[in-house]
Amino acid sequence: MIILIDSKTKLVGLIGHPIDHSFSPIMHNAAIKDLKINYRYFAFDVSEKNLKDVVTGAKALNFRGFNVTIPHKVNIMKYLDEIDCDAEVIGAVNTVKIENGKAIGYNTDGIGVKKALEEKTGILINKNILIIGSGGASRAVSFELAKDNNLTIVNRNIEKAENLSKEISKKLKKENPLNYGGLDINIENFDIIINTTPVGMYPNTEVDPVIPLHNIKKDAVVMDLIYNPLEPVFLKEAKKYGAKTINGIGMLVYQGAVSFEIWTGIKPDIFVMKKSIISKI
Ligand code: NAP
Repeated sequence: MIILIDSKTKLVGLIGHPIDHSFSPIMHNAAIKDLKINYRYFAFDVSEKNLKDVVTGAKALNFRGFNVTIPHKVNIMKYLDEIDCDAEVIGAVNTVKIENGKAIGYNTDGIGVKKALEEKTGILINKNILIIGSGGASRAVSFELAKDNNLTIVNRNIEKAENLSKEISKKLKKENPLNYGGLDINIENFDIIINTTPVGMYPNTEVDPVIPLHNIKKDAVVMDLIYNPLEPVFLKEAKKYGAKTINGIGMLVYQGAVSFEIWTGIKPDIFVMKKSIISKI
């Protein structure tokens, strides 16, 4: 049974542009219903010029917090009162918590990917990880995974991979700096390979994998941040060579679950969140 909206209902939500296709309201409201707590999650299509008013308004209306998606993850930061260290280092916020009249920014994208991976691999430590791509998603994922693992970042534009790997090495004060390179990388020594590029994403699904995987290490785990289609070309290729695969649903659900816990203090049921969106894709 779902608790009806009343004067005690606590508000959370999502801001972005566009937000029509977002799965966040579905999965968060499914978790709320499952836990029988008096919260509701709404989506708001917001333009950049209104970001400051959004933060002021959310505080005034006593929102518990909200997610931030494209294109506002960087620009929202200047209107927040505090920013968590990881989000500061990543340079983007996807979760805002409102507490005692203060808006505090977090980034749960990287930890979301780590948790999704750990479902398959167990605790991630000292692994050789290859990250393909150096855009926004790669930044969050690379910062998180570089804390305890050996990372190599490759990108179509090598200079961007170089800049990101140097920035992370410096900010995390890494003894062994991250490696970087182009898409012609030799993949045979990587335990985990993660595609953070949109290559293979709907509607352009009939393409070659972003890099070939024929000499992949036995028992390697391959992840793609894409969740539409559920099995993008990169994961089809990985399966052909016997790798374990993880699609972008894992990241989507776990980053949402961490946000949910930041607002409510309660761990939602991952299975409930996953189930609520799988049939919609
Ligand atoms: P972004 O900032 O635009 O970065 C895109 C990256 O992909 C860049 O490194 C770019 O390389 C590379 N790239 C683009 N087209 C390429 C091609 N044809 N061949 C090789 N490399 C190419 O994008 P983003 O925000 O990081 O998002 C990337 C992907 O992650 C998208 O598929 C998105 O849907 C997915 N994502 C998933 C979740 C989730 O919850 N599962 C969350 C966020 C993002 P250059 O620098 O050379 O242009």
